[in-house]
Amino acid sequence: MKVIYADNAATTKMSDAAIQTMLSMMQESWGNPSSLYGHGQAAKEVLEKVREGIAFAIHADPREILFTSGGSEADNQAILSAAYLGRRNGKMHIISSAFEHHAVLHTLEKLEKEGFEVTLLDVHENGIVIPSEVEEAIREDTCLVTIMTANNEIGTIQPIREIGKICREKKVLFHTDAVQAVGHIPIDVEEDNIDLLSASAHKFHGPKGVGFLYARRSVRLTNLIEGGAQERGKRAGTENVPGIASMGTALQEAMAKMGENSAHLTVMRDRLIKGLKEIPHSALNGDAEKRLPGNVNFCFEGIEGESLLLLLDDKGIQASSGSACTSGSLDPSHVLLAIGRVHDVAHGSLRLTIGEDITEEEIDYMIASVKEVVEYLRSFSPVWRDLVSGKTPFIL
Ligand SMILES: *Cc1c(COP(=O)(O)O)cnc(C)c1O
Repeated sequence: MKVIYADNAATTKMSDAAIQTMLSMMQESWGNPSSLYGHGQAAKEVLEKVREGIAFAIHADPREILFTSGGSEADNQAILSAAYLGRRNGKMHIISSAFEHHAVLHTLEKLEKEGFEVTLLDVHENGIVIPSEVEEAIREDTCLVTIMTANNEIGTIQPIREIGKICREKKVLFHTDAVQAVGHIPIDVEEDNIDLLSASAHKFHGPKGVGFLYARRSVRLTNLIEGGAQERGKRAGTENVPGIASMGTALQEAMAKMGENSAHLTVMRDRLIKGLKEIPHSALNGDAEKRLPGNVNFCFEGIEGESLLLLLDDKGIQASSGSACTSGSLDPSHVLLAIGRVHDVAHGSLRLTIGEDITEEEIDYMIASVKEVVEYLRSFSPVWRDLVSGKTPFIL
């Protein structure tokens, strides 16, 4: 059976070129970049080339790029740095949104325990933060605004340029978790007035366990890891050279093919949305237009997302319900709750994040399969029976 991988928001398959880079680094450039002899310097050179490439991709200066172990570490370091800088000036208020990734939300919870105050903005029914609400929330003691570029569950793209402009005017630092965006949609830290940005290689066909943090030169970073003087003294530990090199290759490819990929994905995404909308008592989660080219997220009333996933897997379709981090717990996704879905409806969610090589036939197969499985699950669902008999009212 052919497998359709439709969970690219969880992770992506490494590209062949990214794998080749990784292998050749392990075989040939295996030196420690801090060593002064040939092998070390060759590795060091690769690191600096990648740093330049990444800086070019997001319109930053290479000195503003710090390699990390991934998106979570970058989020933690960005937020803690801005918070502790603020605290030195007596500013201990942070603004974020209700549907950020847990790497952001849990870091904010930690800061609350340290005495910081956090305002979580509403993301409304369409899953988008309103810039004027950011402006209204900014106070004298606000030190940081952290709003993601694109949401990992419902794919909605935030007005980060407008938010960045407001933050710049109000002299408040702006961090964005761009893990779902880098390599998929254009980002320009200058035009968008971004001070801190997080990214992760495994979300753009690079390897897991490697990412980067962009930090404007004026922002003094706090170390999460103490030790040697790697990464300008801001992130100790011998660099993951094969991973970093491979990330560089993956990002270069993603940037080169961005226009083409996004055009194809948008057509495929909209075909999938159109098909799934035909299922009665279903609803698309998040804005239909301001969303990542590959993201489709639906709620189907009267079913359990987990059962839907298992049956789709039997049909060769690998998808997700909520985020990988929350599956295993029975709580519905905080993202779906944030856009106002009630518990019962949020439980029947399905996220399909398609890859660049998806075909029209595969999309049609997915539509037919989801239709069939939803119908089957509803045929013996007591919740559905109550809805149909009018015992409980339909919500969707
Ligand atoms: C995947 C993801 C992260 C975490 O990145 P890791 O590299 O897996 O630590 C953070 N934020 C968002 C939006 C993500 O999608």
